[in-house]
Amino acid sequence: MLGFASTADGIANTSSKLEKTRLLATYLRGLEASDLRLATTWMTGRPFSLNDPRTLQLGGSSMWKAVAGLTGADPEELGRVYLKHSDPGDWAEEVLAGHTRPEPTSLQEVGTAFAEIEAANGAAPKLERLTDLLGRLDPAAAKYVVKVMANDLRIGLQEGLVEEAVAQAFELPLATVKRVHMLTGDLGETAVRAQAGETAAASIELFRPIRFMLAGAVPDAAEALERMGGKTVWTEEKYDGVRCQLHRSGDRVALYSRDLRETTAAFPEVVEAGRELGHDLLIDGEILAHRNGKVLRFFELQRRLGRKVVARKLLDEVPVVLVAFDLLYLDGEPLLDRPLRERRRLLEELHLEHPFLLARFDNASSAKELDRIFGETRERGNEGLMMKNPESPYTPGRRGLSWLKLKRPLATLDCVVTAVEWGHGKRRGVLSDYTFAVRDEENDRLVNVGKAYTGLTDAEIATMTEYFLEHTLVDHGRVRLVEPDTVVEVAFDSIQRSARHKSGFALRFPRIVRLRDDKTQKDIDTLATVEELYERFFGGESQTELVEVAEPGT
Ligand code: AMP
Repeated sequence: MLGFASTADGIANTSSKLEKTRLLATYLRGLEASDLRLATTWMTGRPFSLNDPRTLQLGGSSMWKAVAGLTGADPEELGRVYLKHSDPGDWAEEVLAGHTRPEPTSLQEVGTAFAEIEAANGAAPKLERLTDLLGRLDPAAAKYVVKVMANDLRIGLQEGLVEEAVAQAFELPLATVKRVHMLTGDLGETAVRAQAGETAAASIELFRPIRFMLAGAVPDAAEALERMGGKTVWTEEKYDGVRCQLHRSGDRVALYSRDLRETTAAFPEVVEAGRELGHDLLIDGEILAHRNGKVLRFFELQRRLGRKVVARKLLDEVPVVLVAFDLLYLDGEPLLDRPLRERRRLLEELHLEHPFLLARFDNASSAKELDRIFGETRERGNEGLMMKNPESPYTPGRRGLSWLKLKRPLATLDCVVTAVEWGHGKRRGVLSDYTFAVRDEENDRLVNVGKAYTGLTDAEIATMTEYFLEHTLVDHGRVRLVEPDTVVEVAFDSIQRSARHKSGFALRFPRIVRLRDDKTQKDIDTLATVEELYERFFGGESQTELVEVAEPGT
């Protein structure tokens, strides 16, 4: 485990992506298969691979108790060190120093301990195993074991760099590694196959979810068109539901979510209808709550998520549909390398029926046309527009240019900051998370509508940190309530009803765009405005209508 830790330290200590990749590749090359599988997975900051349904189910408080038990440190001391680092791994390393009995511990032993912690039933047995594991680690190794358990390494290593390191370690083209990763949904498995030279045979296996193709964001239509090479682009509505992959073979149907978890049990009506499809296939699409031809609010759909059993009443209240937009496998044949144009044709030829729908589809060859379509899709209540290159194969990853999304903030709101929180990682030691409020005029009070990691510059954050430290009303440690006199402009994707905030609303995906030094608390937006925006764009049943049979491809 010390080898893993020193490699990770090396990666943290350089900002050069090339150097990070080189260090990791050198380390991975020297590992044997079983260690390689674990190390690669852990380098992506998770204890189990993405498509492994297991989670440790271990809260921060167990970690706290284990470390307190080993060190005998009082909560105040633990809190003080935590605030210094704002990172559980760095914290554990410092407080555990001199309090463990380090034994040489292999990756396999740590892997076994993770499996035992996961399998242990209840908080006490989990804590016992965790304490045992930490107690035999060198603090330098414990640091990374804790970071992996907390699902965040914070060493500036995105998944893409781990893929590059695997490619470099085993002298393969990056595209090959990405492809195997997409098909297996498991970077550890991908590394093992790369090492064994078994990458050629990788193909779709039904009931092993593959990684989803994602879209890059563009700010406006002109840029979208340019990035697509200036040719005709396909557009589809961007539905605000949850991504879903449907696998079917014979009587067996399974659904998987964007994070490759199985969600079959949550959507029985889709599964039932899936059995009737008459083909072995893999469909990519979006699940939406949908009744009487209308899309229901995301808030309604949320009631269906994560269920193991869905009661009849809920099935009636919140029925769902699967809006299909891609077909990746049909009767024994993987379709990933076929152009979208062909995949869409095959999808249409399935003549899907309710609860399957086809994504509404159009095409454009000028920015003006795209703008018009965007406006129409907004009118129908959708959050934005997807643009796809009809000649493109299905490839995973954010940076692709074949799928783009155009989402524009509807409006921005001027809000006042009411609370601030200490940041993590690079933002350690500064107050970087802001909770903000609008004015509830009726009751003459401020009501929170969201919280966001600030998008301000480092210099602004530093200045604001000093300011907030001086203008703290209540210090809760991590969080400080501050004098409500800092106005920020906040952009967001949509507004949801929320029981968490007194306002009754929460902004979805809020971003702090800038400080409004020119404004004071009396200039901020009101709850009435939030309500109005909600009613107009996100309230009630939206006006989205879905076409069941799409227009033929161009
Ligand atoms: P975002 O979550 O903003 O990165 O946008 C990408 C997500 O939009 C995908 O993962 C899908 O869940 C969703 N989406 C909605 N409609 C479509 C569509 N027609 N094609 C592809 N993705 C879509």
